[in-house]
Amino acid sequence: MQSNGKIRIAIQKSGRLSEESISLLGQMGLRFETYQDRLFAPCRDMPIDVLFLRDDDIPEYVQDGVADLGIVGSNVLDERMVRVERLLPLDFGFCSLCLAVPERGGYESVEDLNGKRIATSYPETLRRFLLERRVEAEIVVLGGCVEIAPALKVADAICDLVSTGSTLRTHGLTILETVARCQAVLFGRQDPPEDSSPLKKGATAGLSSSAGRNPRGNTAGQASSGTRTLGNRREESRELIQRLLLRAQAVQEARKYRYVMFNAPADAVDSIKNLLPGCKSPTIVPLADPGFIAVHAMVLEETFWEVVEKLRDRGASDILVTPVEKFMR
Ligand code: ATP
Ligand code: ZN
Repeated sequence: MQSNGKIRIAIQKSGRLSEESISLLGQMGLRFETYQDRLFAPCRDMPIDVLFLRDDDIPEYVQDGVADLGIVGSNVLDERMVRVERLLPLDFGFCSLCLAVPERGGYESVEDLNGKRIATSYPETLRRFLLERRVEAEIVVLGGCVEIAPALKVADAICDLVSTGSTLRTHGLTILETVARCQAVLFGRQDPPEDSSPLKKGATAGLSSSAGRNPRGNTAGQASSGTRTLGNRREESRELIQRLLLRAQAVQEARKYRYVMFNAPADAVDSIKNLLPGCKSPTIVPLADPGFIAVHAMVLEETFWEVVEKLRDRGASDILVTPVEKFMR
């Protein structure tokens, strides 16, 4: 929480995660302007500011309390080893951190990298991986354009982010092993330990027990107004962060489903119900023609086509499919 009681959410200013991060916040009900050079945007109707930053700076900003929530790739969090709480994987920004070697370099396994030089922008993650695999290699730290390192004889292999693999192929490299699978993550500040924050303890006492004493010796009811205001604000901020997390989960959950409506022969109802375990049970509505029913159900996107094909086999027709925008269980 900031001293003005607002929440700050830090997202990437301009890069692979920017568009989807802005879209997610929009679906979570945050309304804010985005301009090209904007570093900061207040939300309309909510005490939230959105910060647009380089992704490398976001973990420390959240750890240090400059921002309350952040979105970056899990690769960045793994590398920084910051004390933050990972709240929700976001199902975008998918990529893998991979070890790659020259195509005809004769490398067959990670063990072949013993005594070699590996170029990377992720030295900590690579160091841990090599340690785990008991491989001793020299790590050459580069800020970017890592894939050129073998051609320049700066390194024998690289460890870099890959999504389609086309950049690797362009540079005559091939994947030797995947070090980590990565995606964008919503994360927050780790709460300081209960007894390390007198203000927090005071606030908790003030809110949860009318007879309790806060650390300044006041009974909760008599706590100084400054402390109470800050305590209340902290509590409100925590509640707002919880609400935001629930909203993000609802958006995430919704993306996994499609809402399907169709007509079907009434006598096929049992076999159709068995195909639709999505939520509790499908909605079944009688039609004017007693031989038919209308069915509404949530279907998991990943099994969608198989389910719809089987529904058609059981006589389903007039099948209408819509995306689900939000879904709360
Ligand atoms: P910034 O200017 O904010 O420092 P950047 O150049 O470090 O940006 P991007 O290239 O925009 O970062 O990548 C941001 C994140 O996108 C990565 O950390 C990673 O989690 C994810 N990502 C997804 N696919 C790829 C890919 N093919 N290459 C690199 N990153 C990818
Ligand atoms: Zn970066």
